[in-house]
Amino acid sequence: MKALQLEQPKQWRIIDVPAPGAPGPGEALLRVERVGVCGTDLSGYLGKMPFFSYPRIPGHELSVIVEAVGEGVTHVKPGDRCAVEPYLNCGKCYSCRRGLTNCCEHNRTLGVMCDGGLAERITLPARKLHPAPGLTPDQCALVETLAIGCHAVDRGAPRIGENILIIGAGPIGLSALEFAKLSGARPIVIDIAEGRLAFVREKMGVTDTILARSDASDIEALSRLTQGQLADVVIDATGNHRSMVRALEFAAFGGRVVYVGITQQPMELPHAPFLHRRELTLLASRNALTRDFPRIIGLIRDGRIDTRPWITHHARLEEVPAVFPGWLEPSAGVIKAVIRID
Ligand SMILES: [Zn+2]
Ligand SMILES: [Zn+2]
Repeated sequence: MKALQLEQPKQWRIIDVPAPGAPGPGEALLRVERVGVCGTDLSGYLGKMPFFSYPRIPGHELSVIVEAVGEGVTHVKPGDRCAVEPYLNCGKCYSCRRGLTNCCEHNRTLGVMCDGGLAERITLPARKLHPAPGLTPDQCALVETLAIGCHAVDRGAPRIGENILIIGAGPIGLSALEFAKLSGARPIVIDIAEGRLAFVREKMGVTDTILARSDASDIEALSRLTQGQLADVVIDATGNHRSMVRALEFAAFGGRVVYVGITQQPMELPHAPFLHRRELTLLASRNALTRDFPRIIGLIRDGRIDTRPWITHHARLEEVPAVFPGWLEPSAGVIKAVIRID
C-alpha cells in the first residue's frame, strides 16, 4: 500500500509499505480517508520540530473508517467513521492514572514520535477512536485541531461576561476562538497580520480585533475595549517567547494566562509588576483530554461549530510532494490543508 514519508527535512517520498494485517486484541484496522496538516507537520517538514525524527510518516489529524476490529473491541464496528485521538498514552503512569492522558509521561504522538496516518491503512488501539456519525470526512479530520483549542480554553476556564484575549490568529488561535465563543465570555483577538484579523471578523463573526504593533498601543487598545479591565483570560497561541512573556501585560488583575503555543527559548517573566501585583495564574496546555473528542464531534454535528471557513486547501496524497512547499508561503493563506487518501 501507499504511504507518504518525510525521508529527511524538506524531502517527501511516496513509499510502498506492507499493508497491516488483521487487528490484534483491542486494536482496529482503519482505512484513512483524510489527514489534516498542522503546524507540527510544517515544522517537521522544515526540520524544526524538536520531537521529530526521520524517516517518519507524519499525520495525526485523521478521519478514518473502521475496516476490522480485534477481540474485545465493542464501541466501534466496521464501517464506522471515527476521529482519532493521536496521543498514544501508556495508561500506567501517574498522569494516566489520574486521567491526564494528554500529558502521559511516556506519550507518543502519532505521526510525530511514531509513524502516523499518511498511509492507506493503519492499525491503532481502538480506545483511541471516537465515532463521528454525521460528520463529513473533512469535518472529522478537524476534530483534533479543535481539541487543542478546546483544552486551552478549558484550562483558562472563562466565565460568562469575562474578556478572553487570544494572541495569534493562526490555526491554534482560531481553534481556541471557537471555544472562547462558546464559553459565554467575550472573545478579543490580537494578531500582527491584518489579513488574519479580517478572517476572524468576516468568517468567524468576532468583532473585537486588535492589530498588534508590539508596543504600548496594544495594551491601550485592549484597555479601551475592556473599560480598563484588560483580559480575564489570555491565551497565547503564538509559540513566540517574546509574545509569551508579554502576554502577562494583557491580563487583568486576578487573570489567567494560558500558553498553548510551544517555545524552546527560556522565558524571563516579570514577577513583581505583573505575576505578583496582579496575582496572575499561569497555565500550560498540552494536547487535549479524551473527553474533549466526543464533545467536539457533538458540537460540529449540532452546528454549534461551523467548520466551513476552516479548510482552505485540499490535495491528494500523490500531489503532496509538489504542493506542500507552497502551503508554507504566507501568501497562500492556508488555514487548514487536508490531504485526501482514496
Ligand atoms: Zn495537529
Ligand atoms: Zn502514561
